[in-house]
Amino acid sequence: MVIFFILSVLALVFQTPFTIFLLIFGQIAIWVFNHYRNKDHIKTIKNTAKQETKVANVRADEAYDNLVKLINAIPSPLVYINQKGDFEVSNQYFNSLIKVDAESVYDIDIDTVIRQTLLDAFLNERQFVKQLNYRSIDFQVLSIPLMVEGNRYNGCMLIFQDITRVLEGEKMQKRFIADASHELRTPIASIKGMIEIMNRPNFNDEETRTEFNLQIEKEANRLEHMVEDLLLQSRLKSKQVYLEKTRFNLKQFFDSIVYEKRQALYHAKIETIINCPEDLVVYADQFRLTQVFTNLINNAINYAPDGTIEITAIDNKDRVIIEFKDNGMGIKEDMIPHIFERFYRGEGDRSREKGGSGLGLAISKSIIEAHGGSIRVESEYQKGSSFIIELKTDA
Ligand code: ADP
Repeated sequence: MVIFFILSVLALVFQTPFTIFLLIFGQIAIWVFNHYRNKDHIKTIKNTAKQETKVANVRADEAYDNLVKLINAIPSPLVYINQKGDFEVSNQYFNSLIKVDAESVYDIDIDTVIRQTLLDAFLNERQFVKQLNYRSIDFQVLSIPLMVEGNRYNGCMLIFQDITRVLEGEKMQKRFIADASHELRTPIASIKGMIEIMNRPNFNDEETRTEFNLQIEKEANRLEHMVEDLLLQSRLKSKQVYLEKTRFNLKQFFDSIVYEKRQALYHAKIETIINCPEDLVVYADQFRLTQVFTNLINNAINYAPDGTIEITAIDNKDRVIIEFKDNGMGIKEDMIPHIFERFYRGEGDRSREKGGSGLGLAISKSIIEAHGGSIRVESEYQKGSSFIIELKTDA
């Protein structure tokens, strides 16, 4: 540029043909130089722009893939309905929830229960949390309207959370509280009634007094056991019970329990058969296992008198399988799923008469599970029941 300026000044001052030639030549040279320089520059800018667009596209694709992965990883049906009512983004859980291959809230193939909720959220543009039951599943539905700048409605997002287990847990908790208070109230009412009678000014029946005193003692013991059982069961469930595990011989263990219960078994006219290898050893808390098998024997005495109990133990590699079988009254099919629940008494009054609180099997189950084992029942009404326990033979 400086040279061109000097040449221009010279050409203007001297105005010789040579300087004018130089001036014209310089002009052309500069134009050619600028032209190619600009062309290259534009090319470079274009290339850079292309590359940047490519990178931006790859990033946008990656971000979209990640978003889809994220939405699919959310273990609840989720859908984003755009302002036209189309399902713009949805995860596989939502697709399997609505079952049909629908693309918008207006699709009449969608089940009414779900469609009403989608329409409610989309058309009313409002945030809500509501519960609905669909195909035996309880859902909590959360609807969030999406607004863009200028407070313009841009569709809404819905999440369906499966709360069946939460509600089931709540129901069980409520039932437990109702059952526990009923069970505790009954002996308390009975004790109160007897004391009231004995406190009457004109009460002087010594025979009844003696009988009431015995009854009060019995009810008080029952209450005490029930509270202890409840505490034990809740401590076992929350793993607060320390298990004093030792290695002991199973055959000898069964022999000693049956020996302990021999009188009651004799009165119930129950014969006991033990099929257990002489050398079978388990690693468990002997005291707690005694509670389990004592309860099974007590139940057999109550529900399978005049029969046979057969206790069979099989060594199965790192596990021992114990079957405790009786040929008593059996358990009705509809009762089977409930017998391990707290306070469940299949034969209501009959079980109560026998002093049962309905906690025995619930505690047995908690004890076995605290050992890392399992217990289940197989039973046929009027034929008999089998309790099958699996325990680890080692630590
Ligand atoms: P409880 O014996 O105190 O009632 P359990 O928890 O031990 O409580 O048993 C729950 C219920 O299971 C009993 O009330 C009874 O209906 C049923 N049950 C338990 N063991 C047997 C059995 N061996 N045969 C038939 N029914 C049984």
